[in-house]
Amino acid sequence: MKKALTIAGSDSGGGAGIQADLKTFQELEVFGMSALTAVTAQNTLGVQAVYPMTAEAVMTQIDSIGEDIGADAVKTGMLFNAEIIEAVAKKMYHYHWTNVVVDPVMIAKGGASLLQNEAISALIQFLLPLSTVITPNIPEAEVLTNLSIQTAEDKKEAAKKLLALGVKNVVIKGGHDEDPNQAVDLFYDGLEFVFIKSKRINTKNTHGTGCTFSAAVAAELAKGHLVYDAVAKAKSFIQAAIEDQLDIGHGHGPTNHWA
Ligand code: PLP
Repeated sequence: MKKALTIAGSDSGGGAGIQADLKTFQELEVFGMSALTAVTAQNTLGVQAVYPMTAEAVMTQIDSIGEDIGADAVKTGMLFNAEIIEAVAKKMYHYHWTNVVVDPVMIAKGGASLLQNEAISALIQFLLPLSTVITPNIPEAEVLTNLSIQTAEDKKEAAKKLLALGVKNVVIKGGHDEDPNQAVDLFYDGLEFVFIKSKRINTKNTHGTGCTFSAAVAAELAKGHLVYDAVAKAKSFIQAAIEDQLDIGHGHGPTNHWA
């Protein structure tokens, strides 16, 4: 069985973070493992508290996996601070992990910060050059590139700029597009721009979509798919998961991971 590791924060409400990742790995039939970067007290209403782990605790968890089980693909989610980012990059380099999906998680939908501002340069310096594919949404791509993204051309410019930072492939997700009818993701591998269009589903229950999508990309990479194929499969998975959303809790419910 292929194995996938998530290095991310936990969501006590079960909709995002490592809980979403592990459910996605299970559904896509890869063996799921986790290294926890932070505990969040969280539900569908928002993030009530964040308790980061020490960088040492993150490294020790990664070593436990690297020294024994190994990983066919790795995804990173909430990394919270520069020390954790540096530690994760160091360990990924040490274990020669190659199928690396970086979801540059910054701010939760409710507004809570999941990455300290001063950690953004560490993300760019240490982690992006090690990544196989990164999966920013539009606000995250804007922060990483210092560009304002409104049009398809802007997305292409941002994708080029991200590749210039050492990223091998990028998916700029269209969930924040203005268009009320569709969401358009842009995939770029340095050679070709591919726009992936999907019908916009009008729902408030989208908590954890980014986590679930990047976990699905990692699972498909672990199974040996090429990057574009892994992204296309993950896109179908997340589309079905949003259509099959769960209306639980009093706020923004999660996508359904049983697609
Ligand atoms: N909480 C954790 C621990 C996460 O890793 C993420 C990932 O993006 C989120 C929350 C984001 O949740 P939302 O989809 O509601 O923005």
